[in-house]
Amino acid sequence: MNIQVPVGMSHCTLVAIGAFGDSPVQMTCPNCHHAVVTKVEFTSGVLTYLFCGGLFFCGFVLGCCLIPFCFDRLKDVKHTCPSCKTVLAVYKRL
Ligand SMILES: [Zn+2]
Repeated sequence: MNIQVPVGMSHCTLVAIGAFGDSPVQMTCPNCHHAVVTKVEFTSGVLTYLFCGGLFFCGFVLGCCLIPFCFDRLKDVKHTCPSCKTVLAVYKRL
């Protein structure tokens, strides 16, 4: 018996493991099979809210607890395919 694994898919799976971070990643999209460089989008994640809550409870003035929302480094990173807009991976800080 001969089991065929789609070459594109297995390659994508390998890339997806730990390869996604802050920067766009070059990969083959599993949906549209184009060789793409992922489009990164920063979204407020768990860590952003924790940081916000932490600052708030430390007695900072109210406005300061909104500062973490300005820091992209604290945010989750969403990788999408620029060609078909499929979400390829989400890199979470936690
Ligand atoms: Zn695609």
